[in-house]
Amino acid sequence: MGSLGGSAGAGADLGGKVGLPALDVALAFPQATPASLFPPAASDYYQFDDLLTDEEKALRKKVRGIMEKDIAPIMTEYWERAEFPFHAIPSLASLGLAGGTIKGYGCPGLSLTASAISIAEVARVDASCSTFILVHSSLAMSTIALCGSEAQKQKYLPSLAQFKTIGCWALTEPDYGSDASSLRTAATKVPGGWQLDGQKRWIGNSTFADVLIILARNADTNQLNGFIVKKGTPGLKATKIENKIGLRMVQNGDIILNKVFVPEEDRLTGISSFQDINKVLAMSRIMVAWQPIGISMGVFDICHRYLKERKQFGAPLAAFQLNQEKLVRMLGNIQAMLLVGWRLCKLYESGKMTPGRSSLGKSTDKN
Ligand SMILES: Cc1cc2nc3c(=O)[nH]c(=O)nc-3n(C[C@H](O)[C@H](O)[C@H](O)COP(=O)(O)OP(=O)(O)OC[C@H]3O[C@@H](n4cnc5c(N)ncnc54)[C@H](O)[C@@H]3O)c2cc1C
Repeated sequence: MGSLGGSAGAGADLGGKVGLPALDVALAFPQATPASLFPPAASDYYQFDDLLTDEEKALRKKVRGIMEKDIAPIMTEYWERAEFPFHAIPSLASLGLAGGTIKGYGCPGLSLTASAISIAEVARVDASCSTFILVHSSLAMSTIALCGSEAQKQKYLPSLAQFKTIGCWALTEPDYGSDASSLRTAATKVPGGWQLDGQKRWIGNSTFADVLIILARNADTNQLNGFIVKKGTPGLKATKIENKIGLRMVQNGDIILNKVFVPEEDRLTGISSFQDINKVLAMSRIMVAWQPIGISMGVFDICHRYLKERKQFGAPLAAFQLNQEKLVRMLGNIQAMLLVGWRLCKLYESGKMTPGRSSLGKSTDKN
């Protein structure tokens, strides 16, 4: 009972720190701390840290701290408004995650495990932020790193690594989602470069991205090619998809490409078929598999605190076995997901990753 009173008091005090009037917080829900004040992680029951190197542990701690302090207090407001918090970009940049495993070009050159556990820590506090980083880093930057020329890497990666420019990655089209390899956006050879014509859908970050990776079908070879398109190129238009029920901070766009000219120097020569895209997807799927791990950790931590704070029938909700069973099931699933995620990283790092293994991991952790 005493601890419940203490929680309400703490919520009121800390509420003042993040700019909310302390009295309002206390009145709104005296028995529960607002979600903008993230609870300490209680979900790491099997001490996953023991599997990490000292560097990986330190990065995990740093990311957790920045996310809890800088992002948790603003997430509800931006989720509600379905807007992107541009003023939070310096905080997200200070995580040091953009570019992930890429070595050189101003990128952090992390182990895949460090990258993955960090993205889980981002997702633990806010899933939209982790999607924003994944699209920018694991899709746009990775494609340039894996399929770009030396000149393209030097030109684009350093500013993307610092979030001075933002990237997006456009594969999906209105008529080709799961069936992405059938996409129809056309790339036609013209003097000095290429002309792109077609449509893209769902493209994260596309409404404000400086660098757009566009995947299109070569009109001569009928194979998939990749292009770097810059914001403001004539014929390029990205419109925000409204009324989403999830990942509301992520700015997903419909893109129209109408006779968009791309100079030859901005063609990604490392992409000559869909197989080359699979190289990027094999790694990004592992990172995507770590998103639900982080989201589940965050949900558990919030539920755990709430059930301990909220009192009904004269006792905290956590005192009832009906609720304890749910918490225990969640906790067990999180430990299993962490181990699947960790194994995916080790398979990738030892060169044993296959598209099937990464896809199974992604689907297992998402379900
Ligand atoms: C928030 C968000 C962000 C995204 N960001 C990007 C991005 O940055 N870049 C990008 O290129 N794309 C992006 N996408 C697109 C994403 O990759 C597609 O949504 C995905 O590939 C599925 O395509 P679809 O939505 O057209 O669904 P569909 O392919 O039409 O699928 C609809 C349903 O049918 C099922 N289905 C499909 N095929 C089969 C089958 N053969 N057998 C049985 N069931 C099947 C699917 O599982 C699904 O339940 C994003 C999507 C979302 C929602």
